[in-house]
Amino acid sequence: MGCIFCKIAEGTASADFVLNDGDVFAVRDVHPMAPTHVLVIPKKHIPALTDLAGSEDNVLIGKILSTAIEVANRVGLSDRGYRLVWNCRSDGGQTVDHIHLHLLGGRQMKWPPG
Ligand code: 5GP
Ligand code: ZN
Repeated sequence: MGCIFCKIAEGTASADFVLNDGDVFAVRDVHPMAPTHVLVIPKKHIPALTDLAGSEDNVLIGKILSTAIEVANRVGLSDRGYRLVWNCRSDGGQTVDHIHLHLLGGRQMKWPPG
């Protein structure tokens, strides 16, 4: 099977790229949950947030977050706002075991989340 996000990173699976910048890339989600739904993904295969280790990964996490903020600017979400979501493992609702940050926008978000 292999990891779908690694395949997208390698170019062996296709995706609608919004940004591709060194260690991190951003693609539109194939099953969007909002008018704008982008995934910000590190090229490094890290299965879940619980697998992060060390200062090198702290830098990567900062890069993922700053990339999500930059993508939100680029796609015009910054004025109205948006939501960033990080699902972790089973209870968090994670379905792809390669960490990714969801950027959701273009509609009013609800709280509490489902
Ligand atoms: P999770 O549920 O793990 O937090 O989020 C995984 C996300 O990846 C889901 O929103 C799902 O729609 C998306 N996804 C799964 N497979 C693909 C794919 O092949 N391409 C893209 N662009 N998104 C995918
Ligand atoms: Zn992977």
